[in-house]
Amino acid sequence: MPKFLFKANDDVISHCSCIGEPALSTGQLDCPWCGCGWLICCSRCTKAFTYAVVRETDISLVELGRRDATARGFTSITDQECAELATGMERALEPFRIGDLVVYLDGEYLALDAKRVRFDGYFAAHDLDVLPHAEALGDPEVLLRTLGDGAYWLDRELPRSRVHDQIRRHAGRGQLSPVTRRLRAPGARSRPRTCRPRRAG
Ligand SMILES: [Zn+2]
Ligand SMILES: [Zn+2]
Repeated sequence: MPKFLFKANDDVISHCSCIGEPALSTGQLDCPWCGCGWLICCSRCTKAFTYAVVRETDISLVELGRRDATARGFTSITDQECAELATGMERALEPFRIGDLVVYLDGEYLALDAKRVRFDGYFAAHDLDVLPHAEALGDPEVLLRTLGDGAYWLDRELPRSRVHDQIRRHAGRGQLSPVTRRLRAPGARSRPRTCRPRRAG
């Protein structure tokens, strides 16, 4: 059975009230600080939550991909494209075991208890001893103070001078830039509406 990511709980930040639904593939846009760069969305209601769990599923990859596509508003999509959407997630989860708690950060799925996390993401270069998602279990405000603050991202932004002005222009507005969409999330075809401020309950 394929491995897939499901909502684990409603701890710290969760705007989704569904129970254990499959996750949506990333829809990160130009405004990672809004949550699209560090939260995971539910494929049923498309709202964001923080913690996911890796589970085996008997739902077919085509069906999982179709839910993803439908949630994003795609009206015409082939079975093959649906399967590709879900296979992308399955591939991203290869390093994980069933039952692992996983969080999202800037293009990467990471074990909640990961230590010394260093990588270049879609937007920024990260160097974290402990993930803010893990720290937040003891200090819930830490997520909004760090990943929810545009300064965290802009201070660590990877040099891409061509898109720099757009990043600032779109700051906090959840607005899709086709240029940065191509550069940062190749293959992502989400619409601007999939990215919205997630702090408002
Ligand atoms: Zn965003
Ligand atoms: Zn939901």
